[in-house]
Amino acid sequence: MRLILLGPPGAGKGTQARRLEDLHGLKQLSTGDMLRAEIASGSDLGKKVEAILAAGELVSDDIMVEMIAHRIAKPDCEKGFILDGFPRTVAQAEALDDMLANHKLDLDAVIEIKVDEQELFDRIQKRAEEDGTRADDTVEVMKNRMDVYKNQTAPIIPYYEGKGMLKTVDGMQSIDDVAAQIDSILL
Ligand code: AMP
Repeated sequence: MRLILLGPPGAGKGTQARRLEDLHGLKQLSTGDMLRAEIASGSDLGKKVEAILAAGELVSDDIMVEMIAHRIAKPDCEKGFILDGFPRTVAQAEALDDMLANHKLDLDAVIEIKVDEQELFDRIQKRAEEDGTRADDTVEVMKNRMDVYKNQTAPIIPYYEGKGMLKTVDGMQSIDDVAAQIDSILL
């Protein structure tokens, strides 16, 4: 099974992806986690992207497409994967289509997790207080991440809607309820 989880920062994509990973033996591919690992390792790529993440801007499509192309070809993705945080632009979505076509693979579902803006701010603030390790979990950067989501990422929703692939779940519910909605889509 190959899935995309879509939604603004704080929607619960990571939480749901980790659950699906355990339940279905899929690999969660979080581009945010991959980029944070690059930064933590001090690699050239990490140095290049650190300020971009801290500001809540997007890393270039070229870098992200290469990162995902490389990743989905690994053996641990053979049983399937959940994309969490990719694609984030229409150009990335188009590149993903080409990539999958080259591997003769299909997507099973694109699931949008919908959450009100105020709730997102509350969640991110809570995450910042509890965790405090993400440089971009501040109210200031969160505002920019929301703008970036609306301007650059939200256009991929009609892109997948046009292909008849989009499913939407109500992300205002509890984690278990959102999980149940996702499970009913994947049945
Ligand atoms: P996330 O953990 O998904 O919220 O991602 C954290 C940050 O990593 C984002 O705010 C972007 O700076 C960067 N990032 C993650 N995924 C992508 C992507 N697909 N395209 C561009 N930038 C990304």
